[in-house]
Amino acid sequence: MPPRTVLSTGRAGCTARESFNNFGGRMKAEESIIEEAQRSGLSALEAERGSLRTREGRFVNPNGARVEMRPGQGMQALRSMLRSEQRRPARALPNVFAGAADVAADLAVTWFGHSAVLLEIDGLRLLLDPMLGPSTSPLPLPFGRRFALQRPLDIDALPAVDAVLLSHDHYDHLDKGSILRLAPRVGHFYTPLGVGAHLRRWGIAASRISELDWWDERSLADVRIVATPAQHFSGRGLRDRNSTLWASWTILASSARVYFSGDSGYGPHFEAIGRRFGPFDLTMMECGQYNELWRAIHSMPEDSVRAHRDLRGEVLLPIHWGAFTLAPHAWTEPIERLRGAAEAVGVRLALPRIGERVFPRGDLPRWDILESV
Ligand SMILES: [Zn+2]
Repeated sequence: MPPRTVLSTGRAGCTARESFNNFGGRMKAEESIIEEAQRSGLSALEAERGSLRTREGRFVNPNGARVEMRPGQGMQALRSMLRSEQRRPARALPNVFAGAADVAADLAVTWFGHSAVLLEIDGLRLLLDPMLGPSTSPLPLPFGRRFALQRPLDIDALPAVDAVLLSHDHYDHLDKGSILRLAPRVGHFYTPLGVGAHLRRWGIAASRISELDWWDERSLADVRIVATPAQHFSGRGLRDRNSTLWASWTILASSARVYFSGDSGYGPHFEAIGRRFGPFDLTMMECGQYNELWRAIHSMPEDSVRAHRDLRGEVLLPIHWGAFTLAPHAWTEPIERLRGAAEAVGVRLALPRIGERVFPRGDLPRWDILESV
């Protein structure tokens, strides 16, 4: 069980608690803070004021989105997940990674399964949500193990990485083993508010970590790194739910504009981000591990296409699939549905194999995953 995280100072010397207090310090319950925010018209999205927290220190989605499952519904989903018809590929997936290029490109991206990507932008190398370990579960449970024999990336073969960006603290995005092995070759870590406490506890110096509130930004060389909203939740144990913030990342350079969704249900934030920072040359959108029960906090494939269009994206690279089974659907279903939805409205997809370097402005890869089943 991780200790309670300590929230750091956000933009303009204003802590998340203080920005919450701008909505009025009397409120206690999650319901009342959301009601008040909506009544005052000061939603974090519209006013770009940063995240919202209850007095107890729990972050909330500005529109109140959350998962409400009846007892038994979760177990039903779990049982369905374990009945493993096409829940995992029968054979190891191809991995074509041949090492990172010596010189980072103005815009290129390499996907390593699930949400782990290496983004080259403006000559920098950024790793996003580099979960490269064998299992998403802290306990030896029968689910959450990486697809058979698939080794995403030899960390020791990586050159220096300018920064790691983390979207939230769930195990399938923030993996202690990966972080510890990456740390010697990483320049800086960017996280949403609170998530840096995990890194500090694992021995990474506070000076190497920047914790950002929504709409907060930092510069790395000539690249702007902006934490933008997402509609999700957080927590690694039984008692730390929503004590750290979740985010998407907007990465802006003179050569390219890129968006990384993190984990998120469909919501109004996509349009708000697109209005402020779009159009994007590339969006990396989560499109797997969905279910109607938790649609509020994970996108259906059709939602991913819709969000990409709200963002004013050019090329869509689907993430959050291809490595783990965390929802009761066939492992290829996200891409089959995504292809249909994208073709219907003319959205351009990049479907690389694991480890394949993609140039979003060049020919786009079309990995036929059905060959791998
Ligand atoms: Zn998550």
